[in-house]
Amino acid sequence: MTVLITGGTGYIASHTAVILLQQNIDIVLLDNLLNSKAIVLDKIELITGKRPTFVEADIRDEDSLDKVFAQYNINSVIHFAGLKAVGESVENPLSYYDNNVVGSLRLLSAMDKANVNNLIFSSSATVYGDPERLPLDESCALRTTNPYGANKLQVEQMMSDLCNSNDKWSMVALRYFNPVGAHESGLIGEDPNGIPNNLLPYVTQVASGLREKLSVFGDDYDTVDGSGVRDYIHVVDLAEGHVKALGLFDSVNSSNEGIGFEAINLGTGNGYSVLEMVKSFEEINGIEIPYQICPRRAGDIDSCYADASKAFTTIGWKAERGLDEMMRDAWNWQSKNPQGYEE
Ligand code: NAD
Ligand code: UDP
Repeated sequence: MTVLITGGTGYIASHTAVILLQQNIDIVLLDNLLNSKAIVLDKIELITGKRPTFVEADIRDEDSLDKVFAQYNINSVIHFAGLKAVGESVENPLSYYDNNVVGSLRLLSAMDKANVNNLIFSSSATVYGDPERLPLDESCALRTTNPYGANKLQVEQMMSDLCNSNDKWSMVALRYFNPVGAHESGLIGEDPNGIPNNLLPYVTQVASGLREKLSVFGDDYDTVDGSGVRDYIHVVDLAEGHVKALGLFDSVNSSNEGIGFEAINLGTGNGYSVLEMVKSFEEINGIEIPYQICPRRAGDIDSCYADASKAFTTIGWKAERGLDEMMRDAWNWQSKNPQGYEE
């Protein structure tokens, strides 16, 4: 029994791979290395003592997928592969639809052919758009505001439609809130290209002197201190959520009837503002973060945080790591790898 992990050398996938290997679950990582580096495989081996099987391929290449399904005894897929920058998706929607929607379509077709019926998909809180209510539970309205969010919703729709078409399928969309931090070893972490879009990678680059100061996008939101509030989740907690979700497939491996479609939030349930995040980073790591208040960033919402109770009732998961660990591990990774995975 093997789990195929698409986007396998990426940020969240590499942390998930570590836990699966540590639990003696066989994995195959597939990635086109568009936004990650093969050196991640060495790091995973350093942490776990096991080298994961790696296939360099694009999920849009169905021949490659067919070969992978023919070669390995795969019974479940965790599908991380995709492009993830909201701004880029607005500027270049076709490449986002191609990679994220067409890529997922090809993957689902290859799974169908190979009779591999269990899928976990990296969805996102962005499917809720401007929140109908807070905290966000899975029944909140889905109303995306950009092509990236639309891609996630379309893939969820494909998954749900497939489950309605045939009861062999088991499909879980995990809606991540804001993943941050890194493995406690400091060997794997987030390696953004160029100027980071996300808050914590930007903060850690300011801390390491790579950037002069943080721009805080807006101080006039309707929040505790006027800056934007998000539900930050430690990447290792998030990775553990995938392993727990795989457990949903145990019951179906012996029968032909799947569990159908489930959407599950993976967040902590706690919202923190940008300024609270900066203060927490400074306190935990003893490093001052210079910042300036700037205008709001286009498309941002004031607050977003999860009702994470469904994850607990369905897969027995809840986030264990708090802000301290997020800040400590993010800085541990950045300070040990100032240039990311570059030598
Ligand atoms: P990442 O860029 O580190 O990982 C994605 C991986 O997919 C990369 O290694 C990339 O090379 C690979 N890839 C991209 N297109 C591919 C293709 N066509 N074929 C094969 N491989 C391909 O990103 P991440 O932060 O680890 O995100 C993983 C997933 O989680 C993505 O689907 C992303 O949209 C989703 N997600 C991420 C966040 C976040 O803030 N990081 C939040 C919500 C959802
Ligand atoms: N943010 C900020 N400065 C930055 C990056 C982000 O003030 O350089 C704010 C952003 O406006 C939002 C929060 O930090 O309120 C989280 O932003 P991020 O891009 O990390 O996640 P997302 O917007 O996808 O939730």
